Amino acid sequence: MIYFDNAGSTIVDNDVLNLFVEDTNKFIANPSALHGLGMKENYDIINFKRELLTSLKLSPSTHDVIFTSGATEANNLAILGFARKNKNKGKHLITSKIEHPSVLNVFKELEKEGFSVTYLDVKENGTIDINEFKKALNEETILVSTMYINNECGCILNIEEIRAAIKESGNKKVVLHSDLASSFGKYRIDFNLFDLFTISAYKLHGIKGIGALIKRKNVELESLVYGGGQEDNLRSGTLSYSLIHSAVYAFIKGNKDVENKSKYIQELHDYALSKLNEIEGIKIHNNFNRKTPYIINFSTLNKEASIVVEALSNKEIYVSSKSSCSSKLKTISYVIYEVTKNEEEALNSIRISFSKYNKIEEIDEFINALKEILASIKGK
Ligand code: PMP
Repeated sequence: MIYFDNAGSTIVDNDVLNLFVEDTNKFIANPSALHGLGMKENYDIINFKRELLTSLKLSPSTHDVIFTSGATEANNLAILGFARKNKNKGKHLITSKIEHPSVLNVFKELEKEGFSVTYLDVKENGTIDINEFKKALNEETILVSTMYINNECGCILNIEEIRAAIKESGNKKVVLHSDLASSFGKYRIDFNLFDLFTISAYKLHGIKGIGALIKRKNVELESLVYGGGQEDNLRSGTLSYSLIHSAVYAFIKGNKDVENKSKYIQELHDYALSKLNEIEGIKIHNNFNRKTPYIINFSTLNKEASIVVEALSNKEIYVSSKSSCSSKLKTISYVIYEVTKNEEEALNSIRISFSKYNKIEEIDEFINALKEILASIKGK
């Protein structure tokens, strides 16, 4: 098997899994319980949060960690929770057109609640036009949410410029949220850029079902879940000691030595790119100002990507595509459309995404299979 869908989900590291299993057997109490066992778990969880924040060069005195079920819930809590809590300060919000649905669909929901939302274009070079952004910012703006690395095309947005423009505007009400689900551990990021940010454990060799929203303490949110008041009343529900511990371990490990890990991925990326460049009939989406080596996205030009992806899958080579074989479900990648403005390319885009577990030989095998498949299927 060749697994090139690491932007979709990564293999759980053995040490992360072992920690989870050991803890599950050992820590049996409810961390909210008032007896010794529960209190010990609660105390540890507070310390795990501190360790995580410190490892991100953030201070536990200025930041909070709220554990969630993953990035979707963290994005919902950040955007819905902030907008609802702060609607008396202004009702205008800004995002980009290439956000994940767990961001875009939340903004759609807020429009129904009377907020106005600016959805900024992303240019071919993978950046937001900073002048368009400055024009969009106004007295009513309270929240900006843009991701760092895009999960489909791998472009790196110019969020540093966005932060600077917010500062320059003098509007102190505006908070900046970033969905870092596909960015965390993949690039050296200054987490102080954000007022709120989202991470998810399974994107970097952790276990599925846990993520976190990290926020400055002075950013107020309205809870989306009502119950026993856990997580400072922002996310009720019994905390899972073992999931939290394993996630914090994965986050800290994943965010260490980012540059060196990227070097190996860059080698895989550059090799794959050189081989893909030799194949006729594909277009690589690579003209970005900044880009992660973890992702390569290309379009098949007169062959259906869904057929190519299925044929690769039949050979146990797993890559990702937004389009489906069923003509009824023909959906284009709105991200690739945004950066190419080409419907055919957006319909026929394929993403390969790497992790530390991939090997150069796998790229050779993938390229040979891809060439064979492209030669065997009829053009449109
Ligand atoms: N944001 C981005 C950028 C993602 O790639 C994903 C997962 N595909 C999500 C959010 C949703 O994450 P989760 O599955 O943890 O809810």
